Amino acid sequence: MQIKQISIYNEFQCVGASCSVSCCRGWKIPINHDMYLKYLREKGILGTVLRCSIEKKEDMAAFRSTLHGCPFWGFDRLCRIQKKYGTAYMPTVCIQFPRQLYNLDFFCEETLYLACPEAARLFLVSVLENKPFDFSVTEGDAGYEVNTTNDDKAFLDYLLQSREALISMLKDNTAYNSMSILDYGRDAQNACLAQKTLPNPKDYTSDIYDILDCKKINTLLFNGFYHISLRTISPFLYKLCKKYIHQIYHLSQVNPAAADRKLIRLKENLYQKLPDLDLLLNRYYEYYLFTNFLDIFEDYSFSKHLLYGIVKTHLLWVFIALFAVNKKQITMEELAKIIAVYERRAPQLEDALKRL
Ligand code: SF4
Repeated sequence: MQIKQISIYNEFQCVGASCSVSCCRGWKIPINHDMYLKYLREKGILGTVLRCSIEKKEDMAAFRSTLHGCPFWGFDRLCRIQKKYGTAYMPTVCIQFPRQLYNLDFFCEETLYLACPEAARLFLVSVLENKPFDFSVTEGDAGYEVNTTNDDKAFLDYLLQSREALISMLKDNTAYNSMSILDYGRDAQNACLAQKTLPNPKDYTSDIYDILDCKKINTLLFNGFYHISLRTISPFLYKLCKKYIHQIYHLSQVNPAAADRKLIRLKENLYQKLPDLDLLLNRYYEYYLFTNFLDIFEDYSFSKHLLYGIVKTHLLWVFIALFAVNKKQITMEELAKIIAVYERRAPQLEDALKRL
C-alpha cells in the first residue's frame, strides 16, 4: 500500500496545555467500538469513572460533554486519561487528531486537519516561507480502515490528474474564486462522463469572480453555521459571528448595498494588515484541494466540492477581517486560531450552500 503524507504532516506535535483552542472542548468525543468494550471491562475506580462518563445513543458511544469540555480535560488543560494511563486508554479519535487518514484502498493520503491551531500554524509557516504542499510516498501497511466503497480505480486516477491540473492553475496565479476554476471542474466532470481526455488547464482563463454579497453570506451563516450554542462550545468564533451580526447583518436588513460596501471596506482594511491576503487565500484553497478534493470519489460531483471550497475560503477572509477591526496587526498565532475555530464549524456551510 502506498501511503502519501502531506509535507507538514511529520512536523506536527501537539502543544498540549499551551494550546489556544484545545480540541478537548467544543466537540463530542466519539469512542471507537474496541475502546468502548475495553472501558466496559475495566475494573476499579477507573472503570467506574469511565462508564459514568459515557453516553450511548443508538450505535454511537461518546464521552458526555460538560460545560468545561471533555470530562477528562483537566484544569491543567491536559488529558487526565493520557496523563495517568497513557494513550492505550484514549479513544482513537483523540490519538489521531488532527491527522486525517484517508484510506482509498488503492493508496492512503494522510494530511493535517487545520481545525487544530498547531496544524494551522504549520500551514501558515509553509505559506509564509513559500513552501509547496506535496505528498511524500512510502510503502507500508495502513493500519486503519478503508474509507470508501468505490473501487473505480480509473476514476480515482482521473481525479488525481484533475487535482494536479487545478493546483497548477492556482500556481499560475488563477485566483481561487475565478470562474475558470469552476469552468475547469465542470468540463473535467463532463469529459469524464464522456470518457474523453482531461481538459488542459492552460485553456482556462476568466475575468469573472465568484463574490459573495451580504445576502449570500447571511444565508450561509444563518442556516446552521451560527448558533447560540457557539457561545459555549466556541466562544472565540461566537464573538466573531456577533461582530458580523452587529456590523454587517443588521445593516444588510435595512440597506443591503450599504452593507456590501461596508464589507468591501472591511477587506480593504484587512489588506493593510495582511498585504499577502490573496496569496494566503489561494494557498488555503490549494490545501483544501489536497485534503478534500478526493471526496468527489464518493459522489462524482466536481462542481459541488469546488464550490464548497470557494465559499469556505471566502468566508475565512470575512472572519479574519472582522477580527482585524481595531487591531494594529494580526499575529500568526491569531491567524492560526481563527483558522482552527473556523475549520471546526465550516462543515455546516455545506448544507447551507444548497440554499444559494
Ligand atoms: S487542538 Fe491540536 S495542539 Fe491543541 S490540544 Fe488538540 S491536538 Fe493538541
